[in-house]
Amino acid sequence: MLYNINMNTKRQFSKEHKRKLSEAQKGRKCSEETKKKISIALKGNTNGFKKGKSSWNKSKQLSLEHKKNLSLTHQGKKLSKEHKIKIGNAHRGMKRPIGTGYKISKALTGKKLSDSHRENISKALTGRKQTEEHIRNVSRALKGRVFSKERNLKISIANKGRIFSEEHRRKLSIAQKKRTDLKGKNHPNWKGGITSENSIQRTIFRQTIQKKVFERDNYTCQLCGQKGGKLQVDHIQEWAEYVELRFNIDNCRTICMSCHYFITFGKPMPKSIETWGHNFSQVEGGQHFYS
Ligand SMILES: [Zn+2]
Repeated sequence: MLYNINMNTKRQFSKEHKRKLSEAQKGRKCSEETKKKISIALKGNTNGFKKGKSSWNKSKQLSLEHKKNLSLTHQGKKLSKEHKIKIGNAHRGMKRPIGTGYKISKALTGKKLSDSHRENISKALTGRKQTEEHIRNVSRALKGRVFSKERNLKISIANKGRIFSEEHRRKLSIAQKKRTDLKGKNHPNWKGGITSENSIQRTIFRQTIQKKVFERDNYTCQLCGQKGGKLQVDHIQEWAEYVELRFNIDNCRTICMSCHYFITFGKPMPKSIETWGHNFSQVEGGQHFYS
């Protein structure tokens, strides 16, 4: 057999020989000394690792069989914490080739993560700022996706008591308005094409009792004493619960818009809110109108 001068790099071993070599190395541990020797021997090796230089196996296509072998060799192998951190650092900021995300996602589909694994992921992601682009991508991917009832319930529980910023609320509201799939008979509250009894009653209330309440209270907020301006009628016993008291004037009081906000939502009305609810405004000159 004729050997090339660069015999170690160009030499081709037979399959059988490779297997024997591999068998011989199996389970063999290098002593610390040997490791040091290897490390020294590789130092300054331009064929090896060098910053800014591509590694020899980059973009090298591995055969399916080779990949399978690699995978089998690594199976069940525990990496040390230090090793994992190194891999993590090496991958930071690395762009995955197109299609890899899909492959990972497919591999993970239906896979149950342990509670501790989820917790770790959650911890790693907490407080992390996503780029605008990422948020847009996620949003696009989720568009039109229907979540299970159970998932929606979980989200709803998780969000309970969470205070959204004014900007976030505004965005939610705009998004909701754009959802044509929730309009009319598609809306869960759809009552079959008739105006609900509740809104009929509200209209009747505004046409009959409301003005009487304002007049009785001399257009003055019964909580803070504000006279005129944006006024609303507050039902002392709630409208929704005490149906029989809806049209009872003794159950009604005049209240200004911001006081009404406070007792309804339990917090002062944000300055950014200009108006909410049904207001009865008193304009100079004694003219009244609803807005
Ligand atoms: Zn008030």
